[in-house]
Amino acid sequence: MTEFDAPLAGLTTLQVGGPAARLETATTEQELLDLARSTWADGDDWFVLGGGSNVVVADEGFEGSVIRVATRGIAPVMSQVGTVRLRVQAGEPWDDLVAHTVSNGWSGLEALSGIPGSVGAAPIQNIGAYGQEVASSIVSLDFLDHDTGSVRRMQRDELELSYRSSIFKRGLRGVVLSVTFELQDAWGDALTRSDASVALSQPVNYAQLASSLGVSVGDRLPLTEVRRAVLWLRASKGMVLDAADPDSVSAGSFFTNPIVTEHFARTLPSSAPRWQIEPDEPDVVVPLAGDYGNDGMEVALDGDRGAGSAGGAGLAAAATEYHVKLSAAWLIENAGIRRGFSLPGSTAAISGKHTLAIVNTGAGGGGASGLPGGRAADVAELARYVQGRVLAEFGVLLQPEPVFLGHEL
Ligand SMILES: Cc1cc2nc3c(=O)[nH]c(=O)nc-3n(C[C@H](O)[C@H](O)[C@H](O)COP(=O)(O)OP(=O)(O)OC[C@H]3O[C@@H](n4cnc5c(N)ncnc54)[C@H](O)[C@@H]3O)c2cc1C
Repeated sequence: MTEFDAPLAGLTTLQVGGPAARLETATTEQELLDLARSTWADGDDWFVLGGGSNVVVADEGFEGSVIRVATRGIAPVMSQVGTVRLRVQAGEPWDDLVAHTVSNGWSGLEALSGIPGSVGAAPIQNIGAYGQEVASSIVSLDFLDHDTGSVRRMQRDELELSYRSSIFKRGLRGVVLSVTFELQDAWGDALTRSDASVALSQPVNYAQLASSLGVSVGDRLPLTEVRRAVLWLRASKGMVLDAADPDSVSAGSFFTNPIVTEHFARTLPSSAPRWQIEPDEPDVVVPLAGDYGNDGMEVALDGDRGAGSAGGAGLAAAATEYHVKLSAAWLIENAGIRRGFSLPGSTAAISGKHTLAIVNTGAGGGGASGLPGGRAADVAELARYVQGRVLAEFGVLLQPEPVFLGHEL
């Protein structure tokens, strides 16, 4: 289906932004292939849209073609005893897939319950929550490559999945057509399939989740209980889409948890939470003591994801150092920004339930156009304000998690 001057705000969870010059929706894999190839042949700017839960559309809209992925289907494929493999179409809603696996007694995705969006987008930023990442369950995916126009099956190792990143975030352009997952058949051979409550989860790997379930980290519980607890915890933070919860009119976490050198982390207050990680793709860090002018800006790590660029010597030094992940929420709160904070006259605010989410408080207000209210410019202004406060206080430049369409932060 092709629409022109098509409103996009209602196709995103943040509900801001103007129209797309052209919007095309594909409901079958063949349609998706045909649509993408013909769009690319036209030479227009293009964007792939799934559930719109990780995108901030500019108020001016997008002067190009949006390819909307609305394909459906979950199909079992060959697997070994004790495991199940599913090939899932990219447009399948993510949480429908999780619910399907839990009700069948298949473990591996249960802690990712309640994340909005589509299956095809899950590998793009390697979605993760409550101690699970989709990277652990993906076997391969089918990808229509923009550069070659052909479909290739990419194995997990080729996807460069890491914290909120992948080869797609690093520049590989195209369309994810389907994803193949491998899950554990948690029923076990001896069990009958009549009672879903006996199928066990993967070990619970997140302290807050374990505590809300009244168990220890590493324990396994019925899949259904883990899913219920995750959905409850997420709802308490406004992280489940709910028409009755204005704090869920968001793009989820607005900033990623920064990854910095251990050396830099020592300059932060000892109360700042930190977790040691394997060397990964680091974020930009500007030491507090530095001069923030161009010449004085000492970027400790990889400079290509944000302002400034690192000298070769700096990069070489950083490569041998351990990295730690910081809590973006802690940095924001301790830079003095509270839940519910808003700039004067703005239609954007920090969520009343979680400092990491920016919500559109104008949603549902209706404008002359009949589109939902709220301005992308307000969201961007608040995001820049948060970045500025955290940078000034701690010397860390927070990086946005959502994708900006038609504008930049
Ligand atoms: C309330 C809320 C809670 C959230 N909680 C979490 C969380 O706990 N953990 C987490 O990781 N994320 C979370 N998110 C972010 C978001 O849900 C995920 O990133 C999700 O995977 C995005 O899926 P989508 O289909 O909505 O992608 P979109 O927003 O439509 O697109 C996001 C990006 O993926 C690309 N893309 C989408 N589909 C395809 C495709 N088929 N092929 C190629 N590229 C594609 C788009 O071009 C874009 O770059 C949350 C969001 C919200 C609103």
